[in-house]
Amino acid sequence: MNVLLIGSGGREHALAWKLAQSPTLDTLFAAPGNPGIAQHATVVALDATDHAGVAAFCAERNVRLVVIGPEAPLVDGLGDSLRMAGVAVFGPSAAAAQLEGSKGFTKDLCARAGIPTAGYLRVTDRDTAAAALAGTFGLPVVVKADGLAAGKGVTVAMTREEALTAVDDLFAVPGASAVIEEYMDGEEASLFVLTDGVHLVPFGSAQDHKRVGDGDTGPNTGGMGAYSPARVLTPELERQAIDTIVRPTVAALREEGMPFVGVLYAGLMLTAQGPKLIEYNARFGDPEAQVLMMRYRGDLAQLMLAVAEGRLAGEAAPAFSPDPALTVVVAARGYPGTPAAGGRIAGVDAAEAAGTTVFQAGTRADGDGLVASGGRVLAVTATAATVAAAQAAAYRGVDALDFPDGFCRRDIGWREIAREQV
Ligand code: ATP
Repeated sequence: MNVLLIGSGGREHALAWKLAQSPTLDTLFAAPGNPGIAQHATVVALDATDHAGVAAFCAERNVRLVVIGPEAPLVDGLGDSLRMAGVAVFGPSAAAAQLEGSKGFTKDLCARAGIPTAGYLRVTDRDTAAAALAGTFGLPVVVKADGLAAGKGVTVAMTREEALTAVDDLFAVPGASAVIEEYMDGEEASLFVLTDGVHLVPFGSAQDHKRVGDGDTGPNTGGMGAYSPARVLTPELERQAIDTIVRPTVAALREEGMPFVGVLYAGLMLTAQGPKLIEYNARFGDPEAQVLMMRYRGDLAQLMLAVAEGRLAGEAAPAFSPDPALTVVVAARGYPGTPAAGGRIAGVDAAEAAGTTVFQAGTRADGDGLVASGGRVLAVTATAATVAAAQAAAYRGVDALDFPDGFCRRDIGWREIAREQV
C-alpha cells in the first residue's frame, strides 16, 4: 500500500523510519519532509493547508493511508477533508483534536465524564480571574492560556503576586481566555494509546525533559530528550490511567459525535491519589515518538491502517522491546530563543556507526552536506538493556557529531538512572 506522511520534524523522521520497515508498504510519500525523512520516503511538495490538493494527490498516487504527524493540520481539519474524500487517516478530526487545541474543552469533558484531573475555572476576563485567585484557589496555583500555546502558555505560580502577573500578561492580549487550575503534586509521565474511536490499545509510555538546561533548569522547550518506558508508570498505574482517564475520554468523545481516531497522548501526574490528567495531545510527542518507534516491534503501517479503518478490535496488542530507549535532542545555539540558522552539520554517519539512530528535525540539505534550519536539529537515539547504558550510547553518538553550532543537555534520563542505581 502507499502511505502519505504529513510533517517535517524529528517525530515524522521516526515515523517514516518505522513505516519504511513495514513489509506491506509499497511507497511512502512525505510532505514537506526533511533530508532525514527523504532517506525513507519520496518527499513531495504538498501544502498541508491545501486540503483539496492533498486529496487530489492521494487519488492520483493511490494513497491508501495518510498519517498526520503534527497538531496544526489536525486542528485545521485536514483529517476531516481527507476522510470526506474517502482516504483513511491516522489522526483525529478537528472536533476531536480540540482535546489538544482547547484546554477549556478538555477540562469540561473531564468534568462531564468524571475523569480525575485538577479542579479548574475557565475565565474570559482579568477581574474574574483575579477574584478567583483571591478566593477559590490555594497555592501553588496554575494559570494557563487557552488555545495552542506551544508549551509557553502555562505558569505554575508559587505566590498570588506571580499568579496575578501571569493573569495580567495573559489578558493583555485582546480576546484571551484562560484556565486556572489547582496544583497537582507528583511525578509526570506520558501514556500513549491508539484508538479507532471505539477500541483502544496501549502504545507505550515515556518521560521527557522540557527545560533547556541540565538539572531541569532554564526556559521550557518543545522537549530536549526523552526515554521509554516510564517505569514509574507501573503496569497497575497504567491500567488505572486507562480505566479512569483514557477509556472514559474515548467513550465521551464517541457519544458526543466526535470519535477520536489516532493516538491519544495523555500527560499524567502520578499523585498520591492515583494518576490524574494534566493534558491531552492529539498526536505523538516529539521527541517521545523517537523512543517509542525504537522500541515498537510490529508493522506500523498495518496498525495505523487498522486504527484509521476502525478495525482495532482485531489487532493483537502492540509489542515493544523490553529494552529502554533514550533520545538526546541536539538543538541550535540560541534555542528556545532565536536559534542560530545555517550551522554546518557533519558526523551523522559517525554517530550512527557508534550505534545510534539519528533522527533529523530542523535540517536542510546544502549541496552534499547538511545545515541546521530550526531550533531542534537532531535527536540522537539509542537502546540498551538499561537507561544508563542507553544514555551512555546516545552520548557516544552525540560526541561523534561535528556540529559546532549545536548543544544538548548532558543529563537526559537522570531521574530513571538514579532509580536504576538504588
Ligand atoms: P506542553 O503541551 O508543551 O506540555 P502545554 O502548554 O500544553 O504544554 P500543560 O501540559 O497543560 O501545558 O502544562 C505544562 C506543564 O505545566 C506540565 O507539564 C506540568 O509540568 C505543569 N502543570 C500543568 N498543569 C499543572 C497542574 N495542575 N499542577 C501541577 N503542574 C501542572
